[in-house]
Amino acid sequence: MKPYLKLEGIRKQFGTTTVLNQVNLDIREGELVTLLGPSGCGKSTLLRCIAGLTEIDEGQIWLDDKDIVNLPPRSREIGMVFQSYALFPNLTVRENIEYGMRMRGAAKEARRQRSDELLELIDLADKRDAYPAQLSGGQQQRVALARSLAVRPKVLLLDEPLSALDAKIRKNLRMEIREIQKQFNMTTIFVTHDQEEALTLSDRVCLMNQGNIVQQGTPEELYAKPSTEFVARFMGSYN
Ligand code: ADP
Ligand code: MG
Repeated sequence: MKPYLKLEGIRKQFGTTTVLNQVNLDIREGELVTLLGPSGCGKSTLLRCIAGLTEIDEGQIWLDDKDIVNLPPRSREIGMVFQSYALFPNLTVRENIEYGMRMRGAAKEARRQRSDELLELIDLADKRDAYPAQLSGGQQQRVALARSLAVRPKVLLLDEPLSALDAKIRKNLRMEIREIQKQFNMTTIFVTHDQEEALTLSDRVCLMNQGNIVQQGTPEELYAKPSTEFVARFMGSYN
């Protein structure tokens, strides 16, 4: 099947350090792929390159048959959620969710309708007039998710969205994210350094090390058939 998002030969250096070394990745429409790997292996940089927040040195990126390398971030139709919530503290939950739509000139009624729908989806309708500081970490992340879905992105990039949360909330929220992702058939890249998270969430796992994808496959494949010692250790195949 034809990939919906295609990365080819992505290279990125910071100074003399190669952070991404010829990364290739094909993602199908509606697929949830995790990028898994140790801290510093290049996961966030790869997401930022896809989103257009960091310029690539070499390579090509196609989304829905369109070459997006030279497009500014907003024109790429990509949503992103970061580890730290990064909601606007001076805007209410509803205003946060509607922010992107407002920037794109959506009419008030359309914004209202969409934010009502999303507030329902994340189960925070009763908090619509609250400010971020009045919410728990998990609630803030659900608002961040709703905010990025509001503008109907073609791809959703989640950069360790659960890492700052308690273990119990993390587990609940990851199942919620998976349900929403399936419900919307949302093409998603989920970054994590937590192998358990990757194994339970993904259609496909890409394990990265030092700027390369060293193995990709279903969670079962990576766990049961690690191609190298590094993969085996990282996936906990020996345990
Ligand atoms: P990960 O998200 O997997 O932890 P990152 O993509 O954040 O890894 O970082 C990969 C490498 O690139 C690290 O060595 C990091 O120090 C370096 N790096 C990331 N961003 C910058 C930057 N803006 N300038 C210089 N080096 C950077
Ligand atoms: Mg990172």
